[in-house]
This record gives sequence, C-alpha cells and structure tokens, in this order.
Amino acid sequence: MEHGTTILFGLLGVRVARVEEDGLGGRVVHVETVDASADGCPSCGTVSRSVKEYVTMRPRDVPYGETPIAVLWRKRRWRCVEPLCPRGSFTEAIGEIPPGRRTTGRLRRAIGAAVGDACRSVAEAASAHGVSWPTAHAAFVEHADALLAEPEPTTVLGIDETRRGKPRWVRDSEAEPWRRVDPYDTGFVDLARRSGPARTTRGPQQRHGHGPAGGTGPRVLRGDQVRGDRPGRGLGQSRPRHEGRRDTAAA
Ligand SMILES: [Zn+2]
Repeated sequence: MEHGTTILFGLLGVRVARVEEDGLGGRVVHVETVDASADGCPSCGTVSRSVKEYVTMRPRDVPYGETPIAVLWRKRRWRCVEPLCPRGSFTEAIGEIPPGRRTTGRLRRAIGAAVGDACRSVAEAASAHGVSWPTAHAAFVEHADALLAEPEPTTVLGIDETRRGKPRWVRDSEAEPWRRVDPYDTGFVDLARRSGPARTTRGPQQRHGHGPAGGTGPRVLRGDQVRGDRPGRGLGQSRPRHEGRRDTAAA
C-alpha cells in the first residue's frame, strides 16, 4: 500500500497495510504498528526483538466518509528479554491507543468535544460515534479534566445561598416536636473575580448556615456585606428570595 493511504488515514503510530471492502458496503482498513517505542517493555523499558505472537484488535475510530469503516490493527506480542523483569510479555501500544483502550485518541477527543464544547448529550454523542454511553462519558470526563485547571486562590471569599425547594415541617418521631426545615444550598464563591465564581463548593444545608469562621484564609463576606445586596438582611434573619442570584461586586 502506498504511503499516501497512510497519510490519508492519518492515525499516528500505524501505517495502512491495505484497504478492502467488507462486502456489506463498508470498508476495512488493515494497519500495522510503526511507532518506534512500541517494542519497549512497559515495565523495564528493554527493547525486544523476540516476537511471541501476533494479535488483532479492532479499535473504534472516527467516522470516515459516509460508509462504515472498520480498523483492524495487527500487532505483535513481544517477549521481554530482560531476565530480571517480572513481565514475561507485552503487546504493542501506541499513543493513540494506549494499553487497555479500545478506542482511538482522536475518537475520544471528538466525543469529548461534542459533549463538552458543542453541548451535545452524552447519549447522542455515543450513538453518533458508535460507542456505549459509559465510553462516551469517559471521553467527556477526559476532555474536561484536560481543560479544567485549578483556579488561583481568591482574596475575597463570598457565601452564596440559594433556596432549594419550599420550607416544610418535619419531625423525627411522634414524640418529637415539629420543626421547620428551610433548605438552602450554600456555596462559596470567588468575589475577587468580576465574571462569576472560579470555584464554587456547594453543600446542601438546612436552615441557616454560616461559612468558615475565623482562620487566616481569604477575607470572607456574607451576602449582606456585599455592595448591591439588600441592607439589614443578615444570615440569621428571614431573607428575601434569593434564587439563583449571586452577589457580583467585590467590596
Ligand atoms: Zn520487561
């Protein structure tokens, strides 16, 4: 197979050996490993020249044209020739298809971008790319983890409370008095930034809660201490409905 087909296929670490039709309207692409590091033992790093056997796997790949395409990767299983190495043999792996993976990296990136950037649902992206829901979700998590960096520490920490549901009366047993439960979600928000929180740590809370007291961390402001909120409405008092609104002005 001429080199142009490998360039056209474009999966790093393999070359196209041949392409054939499957008789059902699809195509089968047979590929072989060309990654120079694929014959190094993952345990000890020793480069092997002793082939134990050949195995064929069928990794899922991105769609390629309008008819289905299947990738068959024929790869070697090597013997590790290092006497002290606990691993007797190992199978070739490439960067696009690490050990244990059955999808190509470019397919996982495409699914991750479809969910994380294009806001497509996990189920729809899974169906469109021919993978299961857990595989698509794992690709999205992998995509998000690569983008979400740890935010810088804040200098002004705010507390944001949002009513969650309606107040209700509950009691643990008939012998106990009724007590009112007024559920709020309390979150910590970064008020040093002008555009939304860098990180919000939420936790369900009943009635009136307070943030961290004292300490030497960032300055902590309550909602009523932030410019723009209503005066005279402390956390210990009844408050106006505050659903979904966040204090945006740093003091
Ligand atoms: Zn080894």
